[in-house]
Amino acid sequence: MKTYLTVIGGGLAGSEAAWQAAEKGVTVILYEMRSKIPTPVHKTDQCAELVCSNSLGSNLPHSAPFLLKEELRKFNSIVISAADRHCVPAGGALAVDRDLFSQEITERILQHPNITLKRDEVVEIPDEGPVIIATGPLTSPKLSEDIKRIVGQKYLYFYDALSPIVDANTIDYDKAFFASRYNKGGDDYLNCPMDAEQYRQFVHELNHAQKVPFASFEKPIYFEGCLPIEELAARGQKTLAFGPLKPVGLPHPETGRLAHAVVQLRRENKQSTAFNLVGFQTKLTYPEQKRVFTLIPGLEKAEFFRLGAIHRNTYINAPGILTKNLDLQSRPGIYFAGQIIGVEGYVESATMGLLASLSAIRKISGEEFVPPPLETAMGALHNYVTTKPSKNYQPMNINFGLFPVKEMGIRNKKVRNQKIFENALTSLTRWRDSFKEEVDSAV
Ligand SMILES: Cc1cc2nc3c(=O)[nH]c(=O)nc-3n(C[C@H](O)[C@H](O)[C@H](O)COP(=O)(O)OP(=O)(O)OC[C@H]3O[C@@H](n4cnc5c(N)ncnc54)[C@H](O)[C@@H]3O)c2cc1C
Repeated sequence: MKTYLTVIGGGLAGSEAAWQAAEKGVTVILYEMRSKIPTPVHKTDQCAELVCSNSLGSNLPHSAPFLLKEELRKFNSIVISAADRHCVPAGGALAVDRDLFSQEITERILQHPNITLKRDEVVEIPDEGPVIIATGPLTSPKLSEDIKRIVGQKYLYFYDALSPIVDANTIDYDKAFFASRYNKGGDDYLNCPMDAEQYRQFVHELNHAQKVPFASFEKPIYFEGCLPIEELAARGQKTLAFGPLKPVGLPHPETGRLAHAVVQLRRENKQSTAFNLVGFQTKLTYPEQKRVFTLIPGLEKAEFFRLGAIHRNTYINAPGILTKNLDLQSRPGIYFAGQIIGVEGYVESATMGLLASLSAIRKISGEEFVPPPLETAMGALHNYVTTKPSKNYQPMNINFGLFPVKEMGIRNKKVRNQKIFENALTSLTRWRDSFKEEVDSAV
């Protein structure tokens, strides 16, 4: 039995994966190509470099991102412990001094007796596992080709276009109505009708809202079938009303009247706790998305589980090809972790590194990997990447919309979130304690 683990990619996921395995006594070889081969966005050769914002998301009590961090703390996560040590004031967020943060992670990896950091590009997936592939949204082209060979062309994507996701509890159902266009499909969609003046104002605000500029390397992904909503709005006053906001086939169920335009929302999960805004992929800044999208009738008080985005992103259609162990169905022992499997965000990526590592450690010690309980933030993410129907699979950040519906019966949001939070930490601790030091005896 091979007792060492290969980790490819020294980003957020790969650093966490290597660290967790090394701490359990496994010998780790970690490959990171930077310093020899750059990516289009990384600026240093440090491990776990934060490529854009220096924020690791909300630190507000009882929020889903905070819960995920708390769960990682229970595993002595290298990413979160470095973030805690090098945090900078940022209101309700955990933001860090990015240089000190990645320097500390790099030093701890270099100094760990069980980790060897090799500064090389891996161009082919090794034949023998266990291997964790954590090469991120900007996986080098040569390795991308090899991944494509192994997972199949249709399972590898090169961009993502995310529409905002709304908390169902915050929608005004007196204004929004359920219906499918021309009655095809029952009440599959939730429709927010606009009159002519509301539409005019909405288009005006879209046209004047602040946008995040595209990075030069992202421009090729900007294609006709997936234009940002504001780009369509800029093409003419009527473009949206004849495009994603067309009202035809959607008469109001009570008055029978056609609206001037209709924004459609699609169920995000079976429990209908979350809805996405159809066709609303966008490059508006986050505050502008909140401001402009809450002009939509019915969404005035909407709270968003996730905001929209468009960026270059290599990721695999994980639910179609990964097992619950996070390795390939077709090649057991070849694990994937991080953004490449369809999670969005630094902390989410580190989490998947941790889970893939725990799973690989189990394999090394001849034990079965039991995934984290569904009611935990780790379990909710794991469930998303392994069981979300693979059609239209898109990267996802942690949010309470991914959690089981049980606690959603509680109407008071604060009380509900507190309950989810407490249940999650109790379950997570129990699950963590099931990981005994069995590996030490196996290696
Ligand atoms: C332009 C852009 C902006 C972003 N902004 C944010 C943001 O503001 N906030 C946020 O939370 N997330 C942001 N993200 C997402 C962010 O990339 C992920 O959240 C996170 O960094 C992903 O972690 P990862 O470990 O999966 O990948 P990464 O952190 O990218 O790590 C992958 C590593 O693999 C290495 N690598 C690639 N190919 C090879 C190879 N063949 N051999 C060896 N090494 C290789 C890379 O050099 C890199 O170090 C952004 C992404 C992009 C592309």
